Amino acid sequence: MKMVYLDNNATTAVAPEVVEEMLPYLRDHYGNPSSMYGMARQTALKIRESRARVAGLLGASPEEIVFTSCGTESDSTAIWAAIRTTPLKRHIMTSRVEHSAIKNLYEYLAHNGYRVTFVPVDGKGRLDLDYLYDHLSEDTAVVSLMWANNETGVLFPVAEVAREVKARGVVFHTDAVQAVGKIPMDIDRTDIDLLSLSGHKLHAPKGVGALYVRKGTKFTPFMIGGHQEGNRRGGTENVSSIVALGKAAELAAGLLEEENTRVKALRDRLESGILAAVPHAIINGDTEHRLPNTTNISFEYIEGESILLMMDELGICASSGSACTSGSLEPSHVLRAMGVPYTAAHGSVRFSLSVYNTREEIDYVIEKLPPIIERLRAMSPFWKSAQAG
Ligand code: PLP
Repeated sequence: MKMVYLDNNATTAVAPEVVEEMLPYLRDHYGNPSSMYGMARQTALKIRESRARVAGLLGASPEEIVFTSCGTESDSTAIWAAIRTTPLKRHIMTSRVEHSAIKNLYEYLAHNGYRVTFVPVDGKGRLDLDYLYDHLSEDTAVVSLMWANNETGVLFPVAEVAREVKARGVVFHTDAVQAVGKIPMDIDRTDIDLLSLSGHKLHAPKGVGALYVRKGTKFTPFMIGGHQEGNRRGGTENVSSIVALGKAAELAAGLLEEENTRVKALRDRLESGILAAVPHAIINGDTEHRLPNTTNISFEYIEGESILLMMDELGICASSGSACTSGSLEPSHVLRAMGVPYTAAHGSVRFSLSVYNTREEIDYVIEKLPPIIERLRAMSPFWKSAQAG
């Protein structure tokens, strides 16, 4: 059966060039990078190259990159470092639409003595900047904002916010897991202190990530152990995955242009094709400031999960809400924070593309999806009463 993979915000295929680059570090070069002989030194040198490649994608210096096991670890490391290095401050801020990696950590901290401000968004998922600035105080330890929303693709103006936040002496972290490799970045020119990224969102394998730590930022490790990563993250390095992340970063830098032209055009084609064929379909989120690969569409009066199951029978992979929340019937906290009505939030589907998608695949989805929606609506009491009323 044909397979059309449109769930790249959940995870991505490992690029063939990445597999090629990492394999020798699983098969042949197994030396511990901390050891003293030639084979081990070679792995240490390769890690150094990977660090420079990741730094290159961000516009950072290699010493500012700390390899971790995933985006979640990078997020936790950043927030714990920010609060442990400012022990007298008891207030922390984030938005209401963060990924669970930040959301659940902040909720944990709220139950453990921290005063937490969750900044609201408007109906298009845009941050309420006045609310944010009004709630900053002498007591604020850290502001953490995602660069791009994983469900809607909406971009927050993190560089602008970082400038304001830093001017008031507060640490600024961004969860850039969905943004890295999809939009250009020049982190050195911003006031961002800490930035999280994850390998499996940019065609490296699962289980590797990185944290950018601006030179001079106060830091304390999350994983306390050996001297790896310049004393910033204990634990023997996951060499092959770090090599993979380095290669993926290099590839992503070369594909940024394509991501923002061809992939964006495919996303727009998908979106307009669906909207033209399906009544009561609504795009969720700000379409102006958005990732080039993502669209989140609500099909009113039906369940997103049913749409996914029927698309799956035709080989189409997409997502309703974020992968982590599927399995629960609660509509996504992101769409709820945006005030999307229940009838629309329940029927939301996220399509997220990559450079591996083709026009033929998009046309296949545009052809197959409308009859699915029609069949589901024919069975939906909500649709029938909306039509009658
Ligand atoms: N932050 C965002 C915005 C994400 O989309 C994800 C994964 O979906 C994460 C953090 C967590 O990354 P990881 O799966 O590497 O832990």
